[in-house]
Amino acid sequence: MTAPLLEARGLTRRYGRTTALDDVSLTLAAGERLAVVGESGSGKSTLARLLLALDTPDAGTVALDGRAVRPGSSRSLRWFRRRVQTVPQDPSRSFNPRMRVGAAVAEPLACLQVHGDHSARVAELLVAVGLEPDAATRWPHEFSGGQRQRLAIARALAPRPELLIADEPVSALDVVVRLQVVDLLAELSAAEGLALLVVSHDLGVVQHLCNRVLVLDGGRAVEEGPVDRVFAAPASPVTARLLDAVPTLAPA
Ligand code: ADP
Repeated sequence: MTAPLLEARGLTRRYGRTTALDDVSLTLAAGERLAVVGESGSGKSTLARLLLALDTPDAGTVALDGRAVRPGSSRSLRWFRRRVQTVPQDPSRSFNPRMRVGAAVAEPLACLQVHGDHSARVAELLVAVGLEPDAATRWPHEFSGGQRQRLAIARALAPRPELLIADEPVSALDVVVRLQVVDLLAELSAAEGLALLVVSHDLGVVQHLCNRVLVLDGGRAVEEGPVDRVFAAPASPVTARLLDAVPTLAPA
């Protein structure tokens, strides 16, 4: 068996007396699409922040391709940020209003010192996310929420990451646009062999986008497995409760 792309072991994070995350382990293979689900407060965002090296665990480790990952200077994390990118939750606040779209999408290329023709890469990315290449010369406010989320995805893909970690990447979008962006993520993942780790409270999104699911409850991992199997026959009452809240997903 080859080493997993991403491996977390025993991640624990406490905030005062609250244990936000309690001894959670996971692995993700290249190209795999893992959803993290759970009720509000179950530790999903805490897990995503730890996996992105935005926060330090009280116990446990994160490794990418066997190399330890921990928060540090942008320079010490450059190798990691080239390979693991994120898509923000709210596209309305994730762009500097005074920076043209082309410069914003190219920002990671500059910050991460990626070589090559940045404007050509930006044009290619804009097309890949379903926008016109001339979007590069426009300003963020000229785009709708869904288009801005496409721009955020283009920006995340700029350095050709192997993994996207996204905490509720479509929850700020209205329902129709949400599906379009989910489809886009699924297509990009399949086309580029890009692995995804997506936090979502929306099990419809999970079913469309992911092949494996991890269920958190009170900071602990209570169930994990293929989406089809877990959704058809949940082993944990927490999973059953989450599924009950989405009638359209109830097994036929
Ligand atoms: P979820 O993303 O599943 O809603 P979170 O990871 O945001 O859950 O939160 C898990 C628990 O940790 C909650 O009880 C939350 O109140 C607590 N928590 C999260 N972040 C902080 C923080 N910065 N300070 C204090 N408590 C926090």
